[in-house]
Amino acid sequence: MKAGRIFNFNAGPAALPLPVLEDIRDSFLNFNGCGMSVTEISHRSKMFDDVINDAVARTKRLLNLDDRFHVLFIQGGASMQFAMMPMNFLGGDTSADFVNTGTWSTKAIKEAEIQGKSFNVVASSEDKKFSYIPQEISFNKGAVYAHITSNNTIKGTQWASFPDTGGVPIFSDMSSDFLSRPLDMGKFGLIYAGAQKNIGPAGVCMVIIREDFLDRVPDGLPSMLKYTTYSSKNSMYNTPPCFGIYTIQLVLKWLEETMGGLEKMAEINTKKAQLLYDFIDSSDFYSGTAALDSRSLMNVTFRLPGEDLEKKFVSEAMENNLGGLKGHRSVGGCRASIYNATPEEAVPALIDFMKTFVKKNG
Ligand SMILES: *Cc1c(COP(=O)(O)O)cnc(C)c1O
Repeated sequence: MKAGRIFNFNAGPAALPLPVLEDIRDSFLNFNGCGMSVTEISHRSKMFDDVINDAVARTKRLLNLDDRFHVLFIQGGASMQFAMMPMNFLGGDTSADFVNTGTWSTKAIKEAEIQGKSFNVVASSEDKKFSYIPQEISFNKGAVYAHITSNNTIKGTQWASFPDTGGVPIFSDMSSDFLSRPLDMGKFGLIYAGAQKNIGPAGVCMVIIREDFLDRVPDGLPSMLKYTTYSSKNSMYNTPPCFGIYTIQLVLKWLEETMGGLEKMAEINTKKAQLLYDFIDSSDFYSGTAALDSRSLMNVTFRLPGEDLEKKFVSEAMENNLGGLKGHRSVGGCRASIYNATPEEAVPALIDFMKTFVKKNG
């Protein structure tokens, strides 16, 4: 049993900022002096309205969103977005472009396929086990959108910058790097992020959608699967995931007021990742799995000289209060997820452990 908190490198659900957790703990029984928990009040109350409106306003400020963009909270995770995008925006002879950079992109493509929608996979990195981000892609001029997974949580690759699509709006799964860096919103039609990686607890997915896409949503879809149901009711057509939205609001407040916004956050994220990659590159014992120019600042994937050593590494790390370092079950190896909420001190602590481990086992 651990007496206190450890450095948490889990991929998702993942670490939340400590001040946010403390705030939740302190106000859990008596939210804003109302004598009830935030989980016990009506989503139709003024108090909850203030929570969701503040979360939307902070998102708009953090990303410099203009009035064309709507900020929505939807249940069903990023996985439901895989299905909702083709359902809402493809039909007849319209088509979307997809770039396949790993498990999550593949799943997004599959949902368009299940629905019999037309699409083109314009680039893929499957030839090298998704270890890199494809370059020099030619997108189809007529595509309704171009789907891109901005950070590939499992393989540890990330788009350092978004490609020139020739004007086709990008739809991006940012589940594992949303709000980790500033964005040029002019390129995007839709962004979505399951909260449990970088911005909150599981159970809510944030969606940012450009107004002209809302105009394209057809009648005849189930209410809960239409973007317009959420945009027209401030994400409260039915009971929203209140606790998740509340936690996100606190994370956004922390990002704005404590961390100083996305540029500052990006600087810190770059510093953390650079430190860890530099150490891995200096070692003959650890080796990074992602192509150098495609490395993720959020999920650092690496291998040791053998699977038995990797098992030992993960379990001894846990004994040293460094948790969540096991790679995704589909690829094995090790992975250190260093999201926004991972404190800077966590990385040198991990590197110290990695050095000690080499001394004993190298
Ligand atoms: C975790 C993850 C998903 C799946 O999210 P759910 O909320 O569990 O549906 C999708 N895309 C990316 C990039 C992820 O990291």
